[in-house]
This record gives sequence, structure tokens and C-alpha cells, in this order.
Amino acid sequence: MEIKQAVEKGLKLPVMEAFYTIQGEGTFTGHPAYFIRLGGCDVGCVWCDVKESWEAAKWPVLSVEEIVDGALQYPGRLVVITGGEPLMYEMGPLTALLKEKGFTTNIETSGAHPFSGQFDWVCFSPKKFKEPHPSIFEKADELKVIVFHKSDFDFAEKHAKHVRSSCKKLLQPEWSKSEKFTGEIIEYIKNHPDWNISLQTHKFMDIP
Ligand code: SF4
Repeated sequence: MEIKQAVEKGLKLPVMEAFYTIQGEGTFTGHPAYFIRLGGCDVGCVWCDVKESWEAAKWPVLSVEEIVDGALQYPGRLVVITGGEPLMYEMGPLTALLKEKGFTTNIETSGAHPFSGQFDWVCFSPKKFKEPHPSIFEKADELKVIVFHKSDFDFAEKHAKHVRSSCKKLLQPEWSKSEKFTGEIIEYIKNHPDWNISLQTHKFMDIP
């Protein structure tokens, strides 16, 4: 099978990097996790801190078996699939093999593409730069909105209307704006207690 066809079926995927670390943000903060960062993103966030991920063709294309073998080298059994934008790809084969090997599967996505794959935890982080696909709303376990501008509070509430009532709602200051917005987020949450704060604790710990 040609590489292009294998990628379309999700049997092979472009991998920018994969590494074992501590999940620094969101509900799973503090958990050891193997991160699989797929290459390719068409969302275009101005503040993106992994712009080098955008061009998929720059990264090696690996089979799902090779990707899962990488995860199996470490004792933790939590995998976080991120990007780039992982839902640009069919996530079925990778997540099926991860589940078969006993992993808990988490994804971090902007939701800008149709949902696929078997995930135990879906972190939906919508972006203003590309509308989410409607399939994400019923799948999201966590709505994590990055606060980069004052208008992001309204943006967060707009998306909160469409997720399930059980979905956790998190506001996270964008790293370069955290001095400006952390105080505002704290006040907002005190007044809107259905929201929680998420911080990029891996940046404080200076780990990837
Ligand atoms: S969705 Fe993620 S990877 Fe893509 S541009 Fe935005 S922050 Fe960067």
C-alpha cells in the first residue's frame, strides 16, 4: 500500500515527536504520560507554540505498530495524542492498538475536523481561527479554552453551551499572557464557579 493511502486509512501517521513526561495541564495534570505529537495542522493560531508542527510533510511517517512500540518502552500506561491537529487523521487504528495494549487514550484537539478513534478522555480546545466540527461537542470530556484576549471569556461561554453537562470547563491563560490574564481568570471563576482554572505546570517545571 502506498504511504498516502496508509495515512488516509490511519495505518501510518506523521509523527513530529513522541516523549514520556508529566501531563502539565488540564484534568490529568500531574499524571505521567507518553505524548504522541502528530505533524500537520491547518488551524493557524497566531500564538501557537508548536508552529513547526504545521507542515506534515516535514515529519517521518510511522506505522501505528511503530508508534505503539515507542509507548511500550515506558512504564506509564497513559497516552496523550496531540499535535498539530490529530483529528486531521483517522485515529481508529492507532487508538485500537493502544487500547489492545492496555493504554488509556487521551486526545487534545481543536475539534476542527470530524471525530474518529476510541478515546477515554477528549480534551476539546476550540480555536477562533477555525470553527469546530459539530461531531466534537458530544465527545468532549473537557472544554479547555486558552485565554489570550478579553473576548476569549465570551468565546468560552459560547462553546460551553454546546458541550454535554458532564463536560469539565477549564480556562487556561496563554503562557505569554499569563501575567495579564491569570488574575482575571481567577476573578471570573470565582464568579462563574462552573469553570476551573488550568495552568501550564510543565512550563513551571521546565519539562516538555
Ligand atoms: S490548533 Fe494547536 S497546533 Fe494548531 S495552530 Fe493552534 S495551537 Fe498550534
